Amino acid sequence: MPSPSRPDPCERQCVACRQLRPRSELVRLCRIADGEVAVGSTREFPGRGAYVCRDWACYTQARKYRKLEKALRTGIQAGVWVEVERVLGFEEAIG
Ligand SMILES: [Zn+2]
Repeated sequence: MPSPSRPDPCERQCVACRQLRPRSELVRLCRIADGEVAVGSTREFPGRGAYVCRDWACYTQARKYRKLEKALRTGIQAGVWVEVERVLGFEEAIG
């Protein structure tokens, strides 16, 4: 029986700020194997996923407190963070 407080299935929770947002406003990380994480949609990478807002504050908080590692229960390689940054469009800021 569905409860009235049940969240919209189209929305996902950011691991950093805990807000529900449409998937288009989030970056998805997926555990594809033990110790291996990919950045992409459910269609590209089915499996255990974790979401973070397309927002610098949420990204830095998630990274600082290892929230994505905890959500995915695996380590995240440096290359994955580079890919997340690319998705977020931080390339220009970094140089
Ligand atoms: Zn967030």
